[in-house]
Amino acid sequence: MSEYIRINGFDIGIGEQRELSFRIARLPTHTNIDLPVYVNRGHEDGPTLLITAGLHGDELNGIEIARRLMADNLAVPQKGTTIVVPIVNIYGFLQNSRALPDGKDLNRSFPGNKTGSLARRVAYTLVNEILPHADYGLDFHTGGSSRTNYPQIRCVLSNPLNKELAEAFAPPFIINSGLIESSYRKAADRRGKSVIVYEAGESMRFDEVAIEEGIAGAQRLMKHLGMIDKAPKPNPTIILKKSRWLRARYAGIFHSKVESGDKIKKRQILGTITDPFGESEYKIKATTDGFVIGLTYMPVINAGDALIHIAEE
Ligand SMILES: [Zn+2]
Repeated sequence: MSEYIRINGFDIGIGEQRELSFRIARLPTHTNIDLPVYVNRGHEDGPTLLITAGLHGDELNGIEIARRLMADNLAVPQKGTTIVVPIVNIYGFLQNSRALPDGKDLNRSFPGNKTGSLARRVAYTLVNEILPHADYGLDFHTGGSSRTNYPQIRCVLSNPLNKELAEAFAPPFIINSGLIESSYRKAADRRGKSVIVYEAGESMRFDEVAIEEGIAGAQRLMKHLGMIDKAPKPNPTIILKKSRWLRARYAGIFHSKVESGDKIKKRQILGTITDPFGESEYKIKATTDGFVIGLTYMPVINAGDALIHIAEE
């Protein structure tokens, strides 16, 4: 273990904790936008885990998980180092927005560019100045607006290390998920860094189960990596190989008869679509056995809207 890690021009020694500030850009009002990064080094040799949250600025559960890990002193390992970036998309966070002010999705802007759009600049900093210090990554997300995800890790099951990290986190569900073009996970994979994504709850809302599962899972992952001695007991984890959204056949009012996390059976009635005037009712039936890993909370729907995210074993 080298005595110092040099990051953003600072040398951080063994046993030290330090907040760093990466200059990202200057807004039209001359306001500087800085990215706060926390480096926590243990007293002994060990791996480096990069914990990121808020790539989508309105996905608050992950931001809260990172905050509590630090506030409760769970982010400082005995062995190795954690690097915590609690809010990667500072702009989105300030505006309660998933995206950046120019509408760009940060998680489709990797590996980024030093002179590109705001999103590409943030991506560039993460990939080139922070990620190289890490051995593994844990990235926190939630469902979109009015859409919840049951606590789950997304990983590439055919990648043994990625699967190992997911199983160590031990969420209720592990879901096979390919690497999406221009995503952080793909950019990290190309650089030989295994990153798993935790998805839980919905944007703009705290979900206590999602937050607690995320904190517990992060500790289990750190324990598995030999960074700490103790972690909460693991869940029985269900591994799901494929998933797809069940979409609305008609426009109308959606009533769900299932809850996020439910086990479902083929031909089970999952919900209904009615018109707002009570003239018609269409029953939505399950086409497979599986689990509800995500669900919309938006009752007013158009044909084609995503209603229930179903995964199969
Ligand atoms: Zn997200």
